[in-house]
Amino acid sequence: MNLKQKVSRRKFVSSAVSASAISVLPGSQQFLREFSGAIRTRALEQNPVPLTTTPAWRDQGILNLAKSPYAKLHSVPVHAVTIEAGFWSLRRETNVNASIPSMGKLLEVNGRMDNFRRLKGKSSAAQRGPVYSDSDIYKWIEAAGFALQSGELPELRTTVDKDIHEIVAAQQADGYLNTYYVQEHAAQRMEPKTQQHGHELYCIGHLLQGGIAYYRATGDRTLLDAGTRFVNEFLVPNFGPGSDKKPLFSGHPEMELALIELYRLTGDKRQLELSGYLLAGDSRIHFKPEDYVYHFCGVPFTSRTHLEGHAVRAMYACCGATDYYLETGDQTYWKTLNVLWKDLVSAQMYVTGGVGSRSDGEAFGDPYELPNARAYGESCAAIGNMMWNWRMLAATGEAKYADVIERALYNGINSGMSLNGALYCYRNPLAFDPSRGDKIRNEWYDTTCCPPNLERTLASLPGYFYSTSDEGVYVHLYDNSQLNWHLENGTGLTIQQKTNYPWEGSVELTVATAEPVEFTLFVRIPGWTDTARVAVNGKAISDAIAGQYLPIRRRWSGDDTVRLQFNMAPQILEANAQVTENNGRAAVQRGPLVYCMEQIDQGEGVALKDVALSADKASSGRFEEKFDNDLLGGVLVLRHAGTVHEESADRSGLYFSHDAAPPKSRPVQLTFIPYYAWANRVQTPMQVWTPVARA
Ligand SMILES: [Zn+2]
Repeated sequence: MNLKQKVSRRKFVSSAVSASAISVLPGSQQFLREFSGAIRTRALEQNPVPLTTTPAWRDQGILNLAKSPYAKLHSVPVHAVTIEAGFWSLRRETNVNASIPSMGKLLEVNGRMDNFRRLKGKSSAAQRGPVYSDSDIYKWIEAAGFALQSGELPELRTTVDKDIHEIVAAQQADGYLNTYYVQEHAAQRMEPKTQQHGHELYCIGHLLQGGIAYYRATGDRTLLDAGTRFVNEFLVPNFGPGSDKKPLFSGHPEMELALIELYRLTGDKRQLELSGYLLAGDSRIHFKPEDYVYHFCGVPFTSRTHLEGHAVRAMYACCGATDYYLETGDQTYWKTLNVLWKDLVSAQMYVTGGVGSRSDGEAFGDPYELPNARAYGESCAAIGNMMWNWRMLAATGEAKYADVIERALYNGINSGMSLNGALYCYRNPLAFDPSRGDKIRNEWYDTTCCPPNLERTLASLPGYFYSTSDEGVYVHLYDNSQLNWHLENGTGLTIQQKTNYPWEGSVELTVATAEPVEFTLFVRIPGWTDTARVAVNGKAISDAIAGQYLPIRRRWSGDDTVRLQFNMAPQILEANAQVTENNGRAAVQRGPLVYCMEQIDQGEGVALKDVALSADKASSGRFEEKFDNDLLGGVLVLRHAGTVHEESADRSGLYFSHDAAPPKSRPVQLTFIPYYAWANRVQTPMQVWTPVARA
């Protein structure tokens, strides 16, 4: 999320100081602006942009795909799925009770709301935070919006209502809204250089997403209307293709997907077209070739051949491009998306579902450049990966996309928030050594993109469990939960999930319909399981294939039980030989969870850098499993009879003879915990990939 060092922290600070020293517009001019703004706002209230009512606002899901011509799958609303006591309920309760409230307070303490109040003379505080600070509030409102879709939270709603009114009060008469490019920065507004680094469109994209999530929770369209005004009154008349309009450069993709979600509400084709225009780039704007790589926009999306540049930007661009495909069916987009997805899974994604390996530019590296300790793996990038795959899944109904969603969700995203919900990872490395001075989990980052992003993801999670299609219902994720929804023909449907997933591999689905009805229940067989058993009302079904949805087409009687059993035996994974850092190493995965070792769990005097896995045992004997209720909120711990090297003087130099005596090793018990739970105790070394001692 950084500005690639192009605007230094010092410049931010000095500009913030000067902002406080300059007064607002001269009184009469300000009055006129506010006066005309009031008229416009009233006009909008009296004649608001019509929004779709099919489905109704509360039933529109994370993405409203009900009328998207190229969406094979359609959303099930967040409120229709109740996640019950189990794996995700703990995380979600912490999110609502600790993370969202504490982040709200931190955003307040760090001046994010004062930035808006200042513009109305209600705060004398100087502008604070980087240029993209408005987006922090918007993303947090989106998290609150999703949380409110799962139930009433009166205190949170009161806070958000107040914030929204203070935000929209700062909107200018012409529809522009941003708390940084005002006053002495106003002259830079929407200038090419500002479009490159100023995040104006990025912020409004997040405003739209926040406004939409809040509208879908409450029916309150105040924030959504402010975003619509920005688009319809400020952007569309002044920017876009054509000699009478100024060109646009997205800078940080985000507006692309937000515009399409807005289009799904309004049906206003200008919003879809503007998104397509941003995705195509405008040749009237000229930057250096490397800028088009870093920003992942400005040249036709369909000219991309691989993932590169800033990882969050690239993932959000892929989200926007998939949204564009879902609405237009443009095959050139679909072709490019498939090329990029193949690049993702074959050469660019960590085993945790994290992406973006380089700290420099928060960027994708070369193919197979997936370092462990230096891994960047920004939480936002893993979230972007999940969001992109959610859209690819909607387009196809293919389980390979759900596999990526699950991998990112349980690992590279879930690691981003501490178990107590108060601390966040910006980076999610796959190895860690605290002696290098890095503090991996923090309460606050001045660039605080990741924390509210994690919060909105956990709050929206029920919306990722199911989809519908004209054939029936898809089950994507497993946890104790209840679906209370209907088939696309309107027949009422509930599905109760009972499971101890991901700790155990059995899932019981009780499928109840309002009346006997024929449809297909598509149950996801995860790609990581080597065997899967499926039975309907006790009768086995034989053709379950890992990495696919098993279609169970039948006349459902109104009360049927589907039992799934996945093999949860721990697996030892190797990486492609071109991932040089993992040569001779292996990672441990059990079910959807990637495991790691923390130094603190190993025996006295056993350093992580000296340990090795044993590969010479039968797979059934490799790991002992024990659920520990008291450890890290309750985790299944794996123990493994590995080895530890003893120091060898002959091999201690930087270089030594190939003939030097091999180090002695002795057996040692190694302890593994799920990767998501790392760094929740003391700062201690951690690693995912461990050398394998071959017999
Ligand atoms: Zn981030």
